[in-house]
Amino acid sequence: MWYMNEERQLMQNIAKEFVENEVKPVALEIDKKDEFPLKLFKRAGELGFLGVTFPEEFGGLGGDNTTLALIIEELSKSSPVLAVAIGAHSLLAGGMLNMLGSPEQKEKYLKPAATGEIILACGSTESAGGSNHIEHNTKAVLDGDEWVINGGKVLISNIHYANAYVVLAVTDDKVDPVTREGMSAFIIDADTPGFEVSKPEVKLGWHGSSTGTISFKNCRIPKENLLGPLNGALRAMFVSVRDEFLSCGPMGLGMAEAAYEMALNYSLEREQQGQNMYDRLQVTRHKLVKMFTEIQTLRALVYSSYALKDQGHLALAEGRMLKVKGAEVSEYVAREAIQIFGGVGTIVDTGVERFWRDAKVLAIGGASVEALNEQIGYMIRNKMV
Ligand SMILES: Cc1cc2nc3c(=O)[nH]c(=O)nc-3n(C[C@H](O)[C@H](O)[C@H](O)COP(=O)(O)OP(=O)(O)OC[C@H]3O[C@@H](n4cnc5c(N)ncnc54)[C@H](O)[C@@H]3O)c2cc1C
Repeated sequence: MWYMNEERQLMQNIAKEFVENEVKPVALEIDKKDEFPLKLFKRAGELGFLGVTFPEEFGGLGGDNTTLALIIEELSKSSPVLAVAIGAHSLLAGGMLNMLGSPEQKEKYLKPAATGEIILACGSTESAGGSNHIEHNTKAVLDGDEWVINGGKVLISNIHYANAYVVLAVTDDKVDPVTREGMSAFIIDADTPGFEVSKPEVKLGWHGSSTGTISFKNCRIPKENLLGPLNGALRAMFVSVRDEFLSCGPMGLGMAEAAYEMALNYSLEREQQGQNMYDRLQVTRHKLVKMFTEIQTLRALVYSSYALKDQGHLALAEGRMLKVKGAEVSEYVAREAIQIFGGVGTIVDTGVERFWRDAKVLAIGGASVEALNEQIGYMIRNKMV
């Protein structure tokens, strides 16, 4: 492949070996038990997967973005939810810390996060709506040397397992609808008095991602836990979430490849009237051809977008396009894979239907594809693409 080099190949081989020996044997059980993949997450830290692009001085590998994409693709072929947990930790919360953190904050939080010593989560969404920041109510008020936080966030990943949360709160009268000024980011340790975590929700997919509500009741944190510019968190987040959006490309790609491989093998093995399904039924063959074509199209978009990012481009629109396309292709391929399996495709133990459930959630978790298309539309209108 044009995007491979020796270093990337090495990391991809490590990821493949990890998946084959440690992830595959437990991936279906994690989905069935809805259990956070803690052991795999810690192993991912030991292998360097949690801090691929973090600077070496803060425990990262100082690697490039394409290497990260290759790792996410491999993990997602077997356990998409492991990739989700890493996304919330390394890309959402870790990304904000890496971009906005002071050297002291990076030393305290980014460094142990890079190795998996601590787990991070990121809280932005409120019940008013994920992208409706104008009506978000969580407020932070400065009182002497402390920020006092009140309010709550919903649908937050990695709850209960996270040691620290990067949280957005209103720090002005309200968020300005035009400039988006008025919201700031804070680092909150999970054991801070006044900070509470709900029971995880039971969800359609992403089983094991431990998603739920966090709330703040007069939660006092030190003044120095403000992360980045006062009132400027939304502008910063517009850039930092790009990396999480980008990662939905290789995540969707890995899921689609896994579902396709399972369906292809099944069609070659399943015999009816003395012939396998692939050779007997043109409709099955054509389904697989279309699935394969969609996968190769997504692969081209994923690695050309990551190449752009590695060349120093901001890739704001590309990030959003990868999230949309990654969700669409994986949902389509997984849906068709279930169809090729027929009745057994609907049985959880077959292991194919979970890719469809996870792909459906990918179109919403982190940001809905419709909200992202609106942002891409804005960028097209303003010649930012
Ligand atoms: C499993 C899971 C994990 C998550 N993890 C996290 C996390 O770790 N941290 C975090 O902060 N959030 C997290 N989220 C929240 C996620 O970001 C939001 O669910 C998402 O942004 C959509 O917001 P909403 O659910 O409030 O839907 P709403 O805002 O109520 O939107 C409902 C629908 O309306 C449409 N819509 C809404 N706004 C727009 C718009 N601006 N333009 C066009 N159409 C629009 C879309 O079709 C959307 O699906 C997670 C969500 C899920 C499901």
